[in-house]
Amino acid sequence: MAILWPTLTTEQARGGEALVRALGHAVTLSEGGAGVLALKDDGDEEDAHTTHTTATGGTNERDATLIRWSIAREAGRRLVALLAEEAAPEPLDGRPRVTVLPEIWGGEVASLPLGDVGGAVGEVHLLGPAGFSARRALSDPTRRQALLGALVTAVRQHQEVARLRQENRQLGSILHFSGDGIITVDAQLRITGFNPAMEAMTAWRQHEVVGRFYGDVLRPHTLQGMPLGYDRDPLVQAIEAGRAVLNRELILLARDGQRVIVAVTAAAVRSPQGQPISGVLNVRDITRTREAEELRTTFTSVISHELQTPIAIIKGYASTLAREDAHWDAETLRARLHAIEEEADRLSHLVGNLLYASRIQAGGLKMERTELDLGEVTRSVVRRLSARSPDLDIRVRFSRGGPLVLADRARIEEVLMNLLDNAVKYSPRTGHIRVWGEVTSDEVIVHVKDVGQGIPLREQERIFERYQRVENAATRRTQGAGLGLYICRAIIEAHGGRIWVRSELERGSTFSFSLPREEKSPLPLVIFGTLNAETP
Ligand code: ADP
Repeated sequence: MAILWPTLTTEQARGGEALVRALGHAVTLSEGGAGVLALKDDGDEEDAHTTHTTATGGTNERDATLIRWSIAREAGRRLVALLAEEAAPEPLDGRPRVTVLPEIWGGEVASLPLGDVGGAVGEVHLLGPAGFSARRALSDPTRRQALLGALVTAVRQHQEVARLRQENRQLGSILHFSGDGIITVDAQLRITGFNPAMEAMTAWRQHEVVGRFYGDVLRPHTLQGMPLGYDRDPLVQAIEAGRAVLNRELILLARDGQRVIVAVTAAAVRSPQGQPISGVLNVRDITRTREAEELRTTFTSVISHELQTPIAIIKGYASTLAREDAHWDAETLRARLHAIEEEADRLSHLVGNLLYASRIQAGGLKMERTELDLGEVTRSVVRRLSARSPDLDIRVRFSRGGPLVLADRARIEEVLMNLLDNAVKYSPRTGHIRVWGEVTSDEVIVHVKDVGQGIPLREQERIFERYQRVENAATRRTQGAGLGLYICRAIIEAHGGRIWVRSELERGSTFSFSLPREEKSPLPLVIFGTLNAETP
């Protein structure tokens, strides 16, 4: 039988305290000097050859001449090895097997098997000087039973504690490494556990939230954005009504107020009397999935509407013009053909934007950069726009000969055209548009200001996303797929610039974008010295 002598870690030693105490009692009861407990390895099969051993010195110092506490470990190991070699059969009458130790130890050992109805748990070896009284003491069945019973109970408890500890460790690592957020609460809904996935989702740290009411930390809302009433809270339902709540979708607010769309499952742990003890909330972040679904739905509705309108107009005009019973004068004919051409242009623009957007998505936006004077580019775009719509009131202020930027001319023109188009589209007829440039030490900024309807603050970030339009009368009146600003942002960011809007409802909006200057402004040159200094 191979003997393993595990180095006791602090934790194991703590777990083994009860064992050490029980062995101490056994040593006293046997009137021995020290004791060794050889425990069968739990996980091993009946005939396995490995035994984990726990050893201890006895409490009966008076007789502890054989083994001192300091050498108990080593002695125990060699002793168990020695006894194992002998492999004496278990005595039939239950009396201890006695081994006389080699002379250097000058003592003897009384060994007894330990076990109960659940099977063998190991052996106890009680050590004393030659002729010590264990032999006698343990021959008394009542005393022997008391000693063995207490030891087996201690061993069983020790094994149970070790098992629970192991389970606890496994549970801990499941919670720790789970990709899903897991929150545990007590019966009063105060947080008792908050795993790392939950920390990542909400930016709260476990030590900041433990002990706090869970609803105060996560502020659950319905998908429609209404605070979730106490009665409708899945954890409350699980704890109070005692039924698990599966896969409920709701919104939690992260530490900074950011919405996180989640699917949660709540369950409660109850006492055998049915009292709630604790609750568990499993939280899966489905924000991305939901956003992707919303995007698909928006895409389908926006695109089908945007495609259908010009197609319907083209078809309407074409079939009227094709009627055989009607004769059109040249003026009407030209006007209708012009309308068909405009709608075809709109279609082609939309398809172009869609392709552009999918190229951005695929990361395939290539730039051909040359040195550009942004003032000159802006003036030429405005000239083109004014030629197309002569009644527009657009004023440009851009100092000539300003610093250059390194940019793709066609794409920057597209950004300007988009911003100007929007300024016209979302402004009353009479409003004028102002475009001006600003130069800082490292950027050139272009501002496009209109006196239109403005954009609500909460929409100002969103309108740069794909297919996002502000829901109001003007957008219902005008056509658009909500792609223009998305494309503008992609182009500007690809140049290392920024794009933003400042807007006030009913007063107008200013869209601005910046591009890095090709050469940063030189540091001011400072010359030290005095004018007219006399040369020595
Ligand atoms: P589109 O104009 O095709 O709808 P954009 O991406 O260019 O798409 O604009 C997104 C939304 O932003 C518009 O639908 C509109 O609601 C709003 N918007 C853009 N520019 C302006 C502006 N100058 N004034 C008011 N609202 C604007």
